[in-house]
Amino acid sequence: MPRTLLVVEDEKPLAETLRFNLEMEGYRVRTAEDGLEGLSMARALQPDLVLLDLMLPRMDGLQVLRGIREHSQAPVLLLTARTSEADRVKGLDLGADDYITKPFSLAELKARVRAHLRRKQEITVEDRVLTFGEFTLDLNRRLLSRHGEPIALRPKEYELLAYLAQRDGRAFTRDQLLNDVWDISFAGGTRTVDVHVRWLRMKIEQPDGPPRHLITVRGAGYRFER
Ligand code: CA
Repeated sequence: MPRTLLVVEDEKPLAETLRFNLEMEGYRVRTAEDGLEGLSMARALQPDLVLLDLMLPRMDGLQVLRGIREHSQAPVLLLTARTSEADRVKGLDLGADDYITKPFSLAELKARVRAHLRRKQEITVEDRVLTFGEFTLDLNRRLLSRHGEPIALRPKEYELLAYLAQRDGRAFTRDQLLNDVWDISFAGGTRTVDVHVRWLRMKIEQPDGPPRHLITVRGAGYRFER
């Protein structure tokens, strides 16, 4: 049974290029040319993944996203202009899984689509022990270890790590993390997130070189990579 993808994009040549290339990958692809059509097709088709342009006639992409999230947890990848950083952040807050900045390479887009579809499948499998690099995170015992040696974590360090690691590859804003992990939101509270990320990095990242697991998403927040 081929996976169904919905492409909501008003630039016709781009929509057709996406359709052609994704069909070559074996997906069933449907396209919508404006926001209203996109939302109604998302409801009718229940696609496995949605590629959603933000600037759309009749209903903008963020509204479409909000509508989709009322009935579906399918991965949504936003297609955004380089300039719309505020919209990207808002999109992630509204439950988008990822964004890709125009102009993008088709190879990268296809890789992201594959990764999100694979992840969707993995999340449905109960996986209570996660491994990344030299580390093991046991969600039943709330225990992080490296080569079998336990690593002490503050409660919120554990919760932040567990939250991100269970959703690896997905970008989250600081506000989202504050809201979901700390269950609070207050002005300036996002610094708390940065501080905990820094503490975690001291425990799970190499002292030199860029982070391999707790990745900063520029202009947005953080993501975890196994
Ligand atoms: Ca557009």
